[in-house]
Parts: sequence; C-alpha cells; structure tokens
Amino acid sequence: MKNKILKRLICTFSLILVSFSLFSFPLYKFKIDTLTSSGYKLRTVIIDAGHGQNPPGTGGHFSLGASGSYSNERDVTLAIALKLQTAIEKDMAGVKVVLTRSTPEDVSWERRSEIANENNGDVFISIHCNSLPDKVEYSHGRRIHVPDRSGKGVLLLVYGFHRTKEEESVIRKKLNEDEAVDETGNGGGDPNDPTTVILMNAIKTKYRKQSIHLADLINTEFVDHDGRHSDGVIEQGVLVLCHSAMPSVLVETGFINNPDDEAYLNSESGQDEIVASLVRALTNYKKEVEDAAE
Ligand SMILES: [Zn+2]
Repeated sequence: MKNKILKRLICTFSLILVSFSLFSFPLYKFKIDTLTSSGYKLRTVIIDAGHGQNPPGTGGHFSLGASGSYSNERDVTLAIALKLQTAIEKDMAGVKVVLTRSTPEDVSWERRSEIANENNGDVFISIHCNSLPDKVEYSHGRRIHVPDRSGKGVLLLVYGFHRTKEEESVIRKKLNEDEAVDETGNGGGDPNDPTTVILMNAIKTKYRKQSIHLADLINTEFVDHDGRHSDGVIEQGVLVLCHSAMPSVLVETGFINNPDDEAYLNSESGQDEIVASLVRALTNYKKEVEDAAE
C-alpha cells in the first residue's frame, strides 16, 4: 500500500519535472517580456470613482456610498477622480488615464473591472470616502442611534489573499488573450497546464507586492506631506480590486461623516492636496518600476 502511494508520488513528481523542463523555455521568455519586462513603461492609469447614483429609469439597487451632513461620497469621489485625471495628463508625460465612470451615474463593479482590464491598465486606483456607522446607545431603556463622527484621515486598501481565486480567473483570461501562448500553444490560460500555474503564481505575487508598495507610497505622501492622520495600509477582499488583473489600490480619502474631513474633502484646496499626493506617489512608483525593468 505504502509502495503504491510512493510510486504514484514519484510518477506525479517526474511528470511535473518533465512538463516543467518542456515548457521552461517559453516560460522564461514570457517572464522577460511581461514580468520583469525589460523596457516596461507605465502607460495607463485606471481611475475609479467609487459609487454613483441610479441611472434614470432604473429602480435597481445602486451603491450610493456614504454621506456626510451636506455632501455625498459619490460626488466627492467623482470630483477627485476628474481632477486626478487632469493632473496626471498634465504632469505625467505619456501616461493615459481611463475613468471607470465620468458621470454621476453608477457603474457596476463588474463593469468597472472590465473597463480596467479591457484598457490594459497598469495600475488601478479606486477613490472612496470612509464613514463610521452610528453607535447604538441606550437611553432610559430605549435603543438610540448616535452618529459616530470620531473617524478621521486616510486608509489604503489592497486586495487580501482570500479573494485570489477570482483574481486568478481574470489573470487566466488575460493570459489567454496575451502573447503568453507560445508557438506550440503552451503557456496559455489552461488551468491544468503547469506553465499557467507557475506563471499565475508569479503574476499574483508581483501584483500583490506592487499594490502594497504603491499603497505605501500614497500613504507616505498623505502623512508626511499633507499631515493627514492615517489608519495605514490593510489587506481586504475588495471585489473591484481583485477582479482587476493589475496592481490595485483603494484609497479612502477621508471620513465624510467627520465634520473636519467633510469640509476638507469638499474644499478645492483639500481635493487639490489629495490629487497632488496621488500624482507624486504615482510618479515615484512609475519611476521605480520602470527603473527596475531597465
Ligand atoms: Zn466607498
């Protein structure tokens, strides 16, 4: 019995070895082209304004986002996204911006990641505003909701490990469409192809690392340059992030239900400061990845 298992193990292992050696050349070639990609240039930034209002005539459930005492997350995120687009196109030569929404109307998260993937984005920046839920307190035996305005400052989210199955299917699709398939047809999106598995893991690890690094750079600008409070960089399963096959960061630009943050988020100077920090971080990131690819 034991022997049988051992035999099977040896068989499987040698099969993997053989497959690996068969496909290792195209894999290496692909790695050079698209992973370490010599001559890589960051060309396309996807900017995603979180939430939006219901398109006319739809009674559906749309993601309106958080609200403050006089403003809404969906309007603030769009204003910042539009300013960010203008600033990137002005200050970052050769970089194209694609917005996932440019009107007040909401776009589904599936469509947002589709737009990002269709346009071959190099990075995905999702703009949001944070908000704390009401606190539940008891007064004279009655439950009352008390607004909690204590949250303040920024928070950066990158996708967590627990959602990587979904990311995998997006990367696999991308591998199928890309030059990842060599002359003999190997190395494409076939999930049973060992080349695909190895490639996919390499790409996933790289995207995750780059997402965290970009989030760190953005956080540093907010804290060191703008003096904002920060809750740091955390990993979390965010649908719109894990479906985008590129380094992706969700930026919580401030707490809209905190009066100071709400004023900052709605002011021209506050929005300009946020945008300038994002552009500095993106410029540093672009330089780093392009230098590394030289
Ligand atoms: Zn949001």
